[in-house]
Amino acid sequence: ATPTALMVASGRGAQLGIFLKGHQALDASREVDTVVFDKTGTLTNGALDIVSVSVATGHERDDVLRAAATLESASEHAVAKAIAAASDADGGDVTDFVAEPGKGVHGVVGGRQVQVGSPRWVAKGAAVPAGLARARRDAEGAGQTVVYVAIDGAVCGAIAVADTVKSSAAETVTELRRLGMRTLLVTGDNTEAARKVAAEVGIDEVVAEVLPDEKVARIERLRQEGRVVAMVGDGINDAPALVTADLGLAIGRGTDVAIAAADIILVRHDLRSVVEALGLARATRQTIR
Ligand code: ADP
Ligand code: MG
Repeated sequence: ATPTALMVASGRGAQLGIFLKGHQALDASREVDTVVFDKTGTLTNGALDIVSVSVATGHERDDVLRAAATLESASEHAVAKAIAAASDADGGDVTDFVAEPGKGVHGVVGGRQVQVGSPRWVAKGAAVPAGLARARRDAEGAGQTVVYVAIDGAVCGAIAVADTVKSSAAETVTELRRLGMRTLLVTGDNTEAARKVAAEVGIDEVVAEVLPDEKVARIERLRQEGRVVAMVGDGINDAPALVTADLGLAIGRGTDVAIAAADIILVRHDLRSVVEALGLARATRQTIR
């Protein structure tokens, strides 16, 4: 894009809460034919609530929940915020804290080793009590997100959380498809939860249970197929994919890491900004001619 085009687009964009980091963003946005969405915090509001807490025999519900909530107070993940709200602990009550993007967190809380994360990750190499496996199956079947809690290596809790789809999501996807774009949902969450959101917003290609580097691989494959790919995301786990895509769009309320990795920042919560951002380059060219 010419300096003038970038200036005009930047001005228009700013009015719409869309910030372009450079001319490359403008050039890429003109060519995009495929839009990949993250789920949590992007298509959904990212304000999750705890739906149920199940604990293994011999464990106290309050103890398991408090340990998980204390650990999660050190994390900025949407799932973490929902769980952390169950206690008034802060990150200072956790030592040796480690966050593994796309998997979960672990650390020491009150002298015990606590781990909270995706069932696949927490259950790796550990026995899962039948009651917790059942709780997971039921909640995932209902489209909820489930995390397991392990204390000192024993899987002892299953916490189900639920999110709501952004009111602007279905309309945005419909408009992108009307413009001839292919749309995909790519998420680290379970398949049922992913399918539920995809059905609600009208996306028919779903890639679930993927780690951050697998999100990258999916985008690379689309590019090899000749697609020009925009990725929309908000989390630390989305940063590599935002960089790999031809155009990375970060939700402004997302994490700093995602914002740093993106070409375009969308300040508004409203997903229609995605359509407006992709339209900026075209509109600008017409204005200048
Ligand atoms: P998404 O692609 O939906 O944004 P992520 O890749 O961030 O999801 O996470 C994938 C899964 O990993 C989550 O559904 C959750 O099970 C688990 N997870 C990631 N971070 C955390 C955390 N801080 N606490 C608990 N679980 C987590
Ligand atoms: Mg997200």
